[in-house]
Amino acid sequence: MTFKKRALEASPTGIWFRWNKKNGYSIAALLPLVEGAGLADRPREGIMLYSFASPQAEEVYREVDSSRGSVEAVFVAGGPHPSARPEEALRRFDFVVIGEGEETLPELISVIKGGDDPAGVKGIGYRQDGIARLTLPREDVDLDLYPPFQPPIFSPIEITRGCPWGCAYCQTPRLFGRRIRHRSISKILEYARFYSDLRFTSPNALAYGSDGLHPRIDKVEQLLSSLSELDKPIYFGTFPSEVRPDFVTEEAIDLIVRHCRNRHLSIGGQSGSDRILKMIGRGHDVEAIRRACDLSLDGGLVPNLDLIVGLPGETAEDQRMTLDLAREVVGGGGRIRAHHFIPLPGTPLEDEEPADLAAEVAKEMGELALRGKATGRWGSSDQM
Ligand code: SF4
Repeated sequence: MTFKKRALEASPTGIWFRWNKKNGYSIAALLPLVEGAGLADRPREGIMLYSFASPQAEEVYREVDSSRGSVEAVFVAGGPHPSARPEEALRRFDFVVIGEGEETLPELISVIKGGDDPAGVKGIGYRQDGIARLTLPREDVDLDLYPPFQPPIFSPIEITRGCPWGCAYCQTPRLFGRRIRHRSISKILEYARFYSDLRFTSPNALAYGSDGLHPRIDKVEQLLSSLSELDKPIYFGTFPSEVRPDFVTEEAIDLIVRHCRNRHLSIGGQSGSDRILKMIGRGHDVEAIRRACDLSLDGGLVPNLDLIVGLPGETAEDQRMTLDLAREVVGGGGRIRAHHFIPLPGTPLEDEEPADLAAEVAKEMGELALRGKATGRWGSSDQM
């Protein structure tokens, strides 16, 4: 019997994380902080902890609604969607953890178990006399004080959290704040020993050790050389992480090629239109994307360029420019990962309508996909 199966049947404390395939990384980070917690594949008696993003929200709400009255539980929500819409989540849940859970969740659980007043717990929402109340925000956590996971539940090692950029479509700075924080090399090494190959999460892997605005390639070098001593394959700047184009330099590519196993690099480009890049606050232009892809190819890494289509206010001309950039990158030997814009709660674009995708752009993206040069979800004939 696997650990997950055993864990699905055991919690001596009656505290359960609602496990699903989409929230594994959050649960891996929070499980070690809640002593005696188990994993549940349905609502169980006790304290039920949920972590979810917007695409799962309706399904989660249905589950909680339908178990009210039949399961004796206190329901607690956390993760990107409840953090952005605490009042909405409180219509179904008893408590919401807003933002980072490492300090807030254990404190909240102790208050729930003790039947104490939750008003003093920073970073939560709760209901009192039918009214949703939000407490003061919690300070950013120090990543070194908390494990990224604890075996046997694993996740890639989170090396960096928070982002000083404020891209208008992105939840990261709204969920984790704009102050970038890094896990120290010694802590990263401590958790690297659990893996046979090494993968990381970060909003921008090449920002490791920096203020997030100005690269500190010396810090990236220290990290990669220390990891290299473990003699395990390293995958850096690739799924589940990526890099900003303005952080891609010859030196950075050289470091990755020298120390890492990956021979591709995930670059966040987002649009081929300078007007759109400015509108969404990316802080770089199309030329920076071109330069990053060229440097990557010249250095021996295939660029996997992330693009978003259907951003609000995007015209057919903007989309054509994005398509031109995609063609250019593919022509040089790169690949495209395209997404249709989704308005995410808590972001400045949350109430904006996605722009329709021009037929010509959809057709050409489909052709790139058929040639194995593009993946993603940009329309009805999208590829994964
Ligand atoms: S898209 Fe990337 S750079 Fe922009 S705010 Fe989000 S994490 Fe930061």
